Amino acid sequence: NQRFIWPMAQFGQIINMYQRARASAERIFGLMDTPARIAEEPDAEDLVLEDGRVEYEDVTFSYDSENADPILEDISFSVDGGETFALVGPTGAGKSTVLKLLMRMYDVDEGTIRVDGQDVRDVTIPSLRETIGYVSQETFLFYGTVAENIQYGTFDADREAVIEAAKRAEAHEFITNLPDGYDTEVGERGVKLSGGQRQRIAIARAILKDPEILVLDEATSDVDTETEMLIQRSLDRLAEDRTTFAIAHRLSTIKDADRIVVLDDGRIVERGTHDELLAENGLYANLWAVQAGEIEELPEEFVERATER
Ligand code: ADP
Repeated sequence: NQRFIWPMAQFGQIINMYQRARASAERIFGLMDTPARIAEEPDAEDLVLEDGRVEYEDVTFSYDSENADPILEDISFSVDGGETFALVGPTGAGKSTVLKLLMRMYDVDEGTIRVDGQDVRDVTIPSLRETIGYVSQETFLFYGTVAENIQYGTFDADREAVIEAAKRAEAHEFITNLPDGYDTEVGERGVKLSGGQRQRIAIARAILKDPEILVLDEATSDVDTETEMLIQRSLDRLAEDRTTFAIAHRLSTIKDADRIVVLDDGRIVERGTHDELLAENGLYANLWAVQAGEIEELPEEFVERATER
């Protein structure tokens, strides 16, 4: 199973991360008490969508502004409307953080993020978030029925549309097997759903929402190979014809992306298409070789480079 090789290759980094985490635990806990300071400009206007082009220009960010070593440093890239853009890199490299900044869960410390030319800090927050569909491994299910959870954000959708979205998300079958089907209560106090099932609810929600920009934080949750293939197929369909950001743990799922950026410790270390990156024979090519089972682990030079910092 290839998924088990990837974490092994990162073992050194995980230990290093653990040490760093311990050292900064106090700071992190202090931070958690502070509410995120995301505020709308008094003169903010709704985002005006054109083709869904996204640009990052010299973005630098830390969760803790007193930390001298930023989580992201000088991140610049652009994604044309409709393209699929993939972020690759070891755990802790900053991939999720890049996408959280786009959705304004946090604000950049330096630099700018623009959607169709508009700085995300200058537009109204609801108009920005309505534009973006977010499918992550930490899908939030509130206490309510399956149908209500799929409808979340698209409250005018009727039952027929909900079922259609669930079918396209490969979720219809397991939902109809729940005690009350679409009316089964889920969330904290309801029926517990597996990671793979929650992910498919999130996909159905995104299908219904039909956003201009899609953000996929690929799940590592355990589903069987067949379900995984079905989920991947529905995600591929969802990504068609809209700007898509994908964080991939299994590189095979993003090899057809229009652009791939490789992050390592908050910095862009490589960029290109799959073929270009393989030819470069750097971090990406070696991660690929590990996942393809061609080599057993990441060569020392890459592991060392990541743990040195
Ligand atoms: P990736 O998605 O590549 O695994 P993340 O963006 O999740 O990386 O994390 C990048 C770094 O930021 C990690 O060192 C992580 O510990 C840290 N981090 C992530 N979220 C928070 C947070 N809410 N507060 C403080 N540090 C965080």
